[in-house]
This record gives sequence, C-alpha cells and structure tokens, in this order.
Amino acid sequence: MEIEIVRLKTPFPDLDHTYVYVVNSEIMIDGGFCNPQNAEKLEEFDVRRRIITHHHIDHVGLVFYSEKDVEIHKRELEFLEIYSKPEKFIEDYKKLFRMYGANENYAETLRVIAAMKLTKKAKVREITKDSHIIETPGHTAGHVSVLIDGCLFSGDFILSRTTPNVSFYPTYTCGVSDYLKSLEKCLKLNISEIFPAHEKRIKDPERRISRLIEHYSSRAVEVFDAVNSGHRTLEEIASKINWSIGNFRKFDDFNKFMALCETLAFLHYLKDTGKVREEKSDGKVVFTVC
Ligand SMILES: [Zn+2]
Ligand SMILES: [Zn+2]
Repeated sequence: MEIEIVRLKTPFPDLDHTYVYVVNSEIMIDGGFCNPQNAEKLEEFDVRRRIITHHHIDHVGLVFYSEKDVEIHKRELEFLEIYSKPEKFIEDYKKLFRMYGANENYAETLRVIAAMKLTKKAKVREITKDSHIIETPGHTAGHVSVLIDGCLFSGDFILSRTTPNVSFYPTYTCGVSDYLKSLEKCLKLNISEIFPAHEKRIKDPERRISRLIEHYSSRAVEVFDAVNSGHRTLEEIASKINWSIGNFRKFDDFNKFMALCETLAFLHYLKDTGKVREEKSDGKVVFTVC
C-alpha cells in the first residue's frame, strides 16, 4: 500500500498540522484547513474518491475551495450548515446555555465562522458506505474513519497525544456513548496502525484505544463525583473537572464553550445511564444524582 502524506498548516497555535492522506493514488482522506493554498495543494492529486472525515474547519478545505466531488456522512451534511447558517447554530447554543443557567456569551465565539463567509464550491454528496468506511461517531455525529489493509485513517476520532473532544450539539446529545462504542468497535477490527489527522502515527493501536476508553470512563466518574459532591449547575460542574489544559475559570471564551459542551455530553451520558437526573431550580436546569 502506498500512502502519501500531505502536511497542511492550520492557523491555530495549539493545533498541530492537519494531515491529508492519499492512499494508492486513489483515495484522499480529509480536505485540510479551509484556505485556498491548502486546496490548491490537494487539487494536484487525481484521485477516485475524496472522503471528508467530519465537518470541522480544519478538515473541510476541499468543500469550500475546490470544485471536485467530495463525500461526507449524512449527519455531517447537516452540520456543514454551520458555515452557511452560523446564526442559527449560535442561537441554538445560546438557548441551551440559558436553559442550564450558563453564560450564553461563550457561544458568541462561533461568530468567527460567520466572519469567514464560506460558500460551498465542491460537489458534496453522501458517503458511499463500503467495507473501507467505518462509522466512528462521538467526536462529531457522523464522523467516519477509513480502513485500508489494516491501516485506520482516523481523522480526529483517535489522536496519538490529545484526547479528542466529544461533541454536544442541541441536536446531538449522545456523543460519549457513541464515542465509547466507536472505540470498542475498533478494538475488534484488527488494526495494525493508525494514521490520525493530527499528531503522530500510532503503532500500537490496541494500547492507545484502551487508554482512551480508560480516559473517557474515568472522566464520566469525575463528572458524576462533581454532581455527587453537591455541584449542581453546568458551569460549577465543568469547573470541577481536571482539564488537561488547566483551570476552567482561566479559559478563554472558546475553551469555556468547548468545555461546557463536553461536560454536557458527559452529563447526558450519566443521565442516559440512570446515574444523574435533571431538575428545575430558580428557573434553570440543574443536575443531581439519582
Ligand atoms: Zn474535529
Ligand atoms: Zn481536526
């Protein structure tokens, strides 16, 4: 198997490059960060399929700066609308944060996307599901990975160093259980090596996947413990989590937004598994143990 690696820059200081993989000169995996220079580099490849793992800004360059055909999962198609209708997403998140008594202004950080004024250029169609396409939801609702000859091209589903963010959207609330199921599924796939969209290749997939299962399982316990020790509001609970990038109270608005979404994803996981419940208090929704 021949794998060409295209290393593309992103403008984010804390995000490593995005890697786009071209396998056997036939299949391209991911579309790089959204800018014309990256898309131009990718246009040089004459491939049969272009697969976008998920809708995040550092993966969809081809969608907005190339006229080629690209494939993406059906669930990601709906989230691609964040670029054409950012106002709707911002309002939905604000409503959600208000409901939980959290600062709704954190959702304003999504306005950066509105400022980019992106218009779809590619012919985007729903992905053809064949034996190469492994559905790996959790990081996003319709995230896919690509499996070719024992190599898993994992997008942001599995990274070598970072524990991927588990998403929570007003229309997608089961990120944690999906993510754990995706990891368990991949343990059974006989994967010899993982090629993530950022960070290093993973030569011992079983070990990394097991580590990630441990991490998300213990984070669920951590969130439960925060509720169990009397922290009831979303922001209070988020501030009790031991985030790898430091103290929640010192985060900028974007990281607060991400942390609140991830905390909500875990709270919904605990709710779905019968460990915590929601109740109304002073006009907002708070959490308590069952
Ligand atoms: Zn992502
Ligand atoms: Zn990414």
